Amino acid sequence: PPKPLIAGNWKMNGLTADVREIGTLAQALKDGAGCDVAVFPPLTLAAAAREKAGGLLWIGAQDCHTKESGAHTGDISAAMLADMGLQGVIVGHSERRQDHGERDSDVRLKALAAHRAGLCAIICVGETRAEREAGQAEAVVLGQLAASVPESAVPGNTVIAYEPVWAIGTGLTPTQDDIAAMHGTLRRALTDRFGPAAADMRLLYGGSVKPANAAEILPITDVDGALVGGASLRAEDFLGIIRAYD
Ligand code: 13P
Repeated sequence: PPKPLIAGNWKMNGLTADVREIGTLAQALKDGAGCDVAVFPPLTLAAAAREKAGGLLWIGAQDCHTKESGAHTGDISAAMLADMGLQGVIVGHSERRQDHGERDSDVRLKALAAHRAGLCAIICVGETRAEREAGQAEAVVLGQLAASVPESAVPGNTVIAYEPVWAIGTGLTPTQDDIAAMHGTLRRALTDRFGPAAADMRLLYGGSVKPANAAEILPITDVDGALVGGASLRAEDFLGIIRAYD
């Protein structure tokens, strides 16, 4: 299995003073960790975060435009993110799908833009509560996967994050069996499409991961790490998750 990745998505949280959390993380990671670590702060903090990270964790962005440059006021391209030294970008998070009407086809173009810029794309998929209750979770997630992941995906430039929408920020998580089933389904679909390379593509679970449940979730087969929201904002909490791999 691939080396696990614990990734923190700060969402629209964090001011200059909070960059010190990255310094605390870097300090704690000096002696190594059982996983790779990444933080996706708001773009306003990314340059300072990168400085503080000192190469001990990757710093990425939470979104990018599909195009490399042009008349798109307020947007940021993947090439610009790469130019500032970032290593990755989250695309297709459910909050962007909801708040900005992003469709799978947009997400695929954003991931492709990330790949062209040399960035790792963290591509998010996940069903809503209504979809799960209707027995549609697998079908929805497989549909998103097929249409959001571009042909250019290889293990080095792509991470898939399964984030059930109903588990995000709610304190609710699927059962271990449900996580195992969905991750197994994702791995099989990726293998059908990309062949043996799919074994090395990281599949993260996201949605209410915290220090208290990390030890139950992270060892599940085909879970290669986590995408963490709320519990990534304070280094102490985030390290509690990272240390589940010690
Ligand atoms: P929470 O960990 O706050 O539930 O958020 C998960 C998430 O959306 C990470 O991208």
